Amino acid sequence: MSQGIVTVVGSYVTDLMSRTPHMPKVGETVLGGPFKMGPGGKGGNQAVAAARQGSAVYMVTKVGDDEFGAYARANFTKETINTQYVFVDPVEATGAALIAVDDNGDNLIVVALGACGTLTTEEVTQASQVIAKSDIVLVQLETSNEAVIATVALAKGHGVPVILNPAPYHEFPREILQDITYITPNETEACSLTGLKVDTEADALQAAKAIYVMGVPNVLITLGKKGCYYYHGGESGKLYPGFEVQALDTTGAGDAFNGGLAYALASGQALGEAIIHANAVAALSVTKVGTSPAMPTIDEVLAFKAVDKL
Ligand code: AMP
Repeated sequence: MSQGIVTVVGSYVTDLMSRTPHMPKVGETVLGGPFKMGPGGKGGNQAVAAARQGSAVYMVTKVGDDEFGAYARANFTKETINTQYVFVDPVEATGAALIAVDDNGDNLIVVALGACGTLTTEEVTQASQVIAKSDIVLVQLETSNEAVIATVALAKGHGVPVILNPAPYHEFPREILQDITYITPNETEACSLTGLKVDTEADALQAAKAIYVMGVPNVLITLGKKGCYYYHGGESGKLYPGFEVQALDTTGAGDAFNGGLAYALASGQALGEAIIHANAVAALSVTKVGTSPAMPTIDEVLAFKAVDKL
């Protein structure tokens, strides 16, 4: 079976992480460490997740003309992700996330999107031929709204299905919901989209129905360790339970889920099977620390699923 082509239009930021004995107060300098640097951003993380599953992945994003931009490109290349449409902004810096994690495991994060926040319609349009030949296009809300709108319009024009991961949630033109095939909010994002609180499976059904009415035929609400609730019209949907694992770090779980889902759909799996695969990719990702570096390979996922069936 062909592994399929996935185009990801989204963010790239460099994660700059330090442990700290306590969170600094305003004006305070704390001696912390150890320090770790790694590739991040929802778009980049999801691209890595899909590539490690075996998809041919094209990344559409923008970095600065700086060392972090070169680091981004090298990382994408190492992950076998095509960088033809990783644009370079002559003015804006490469995005960065400043992350402090204290001894309680609480974190404090400042994300400066930098160059990837200024991705333009014109730049996305340059990737039109790649979008046209893709099996799936995956987009989040961590770049500019104009890039998201252009992506959805191009994919629709070429008849290519789009997964919209509405994260991080902020207002966007709701009309695009009529032109996408799948939406993957978590509980908080589903609540922001609908105004309905999402805690239980029953809540997920009500929120999914509301999102379905907005024009999305396949609503997938991720529910953390509870798994993913799928709704496609009618009286009720279906819960695909999460895999039981020892969670170490749940950051990036949603990115693993979306990358895994994109891979599975692009390789021709039926949606139910694809959701199970995405749950497995995400479950394995939470057993490791970090975002992109924590994404499992296809071999790890297949071995994990085989053991789960025993
Ligand atoms: P979330 O963004 O928290 O809804 O998580 C996205 C997906 O990651 C879920 O749908 C699950 O498949 C998976 N996931 C998150 N947390 C856990 C966990 N503690 N154990 C297993 N899977 C998890």
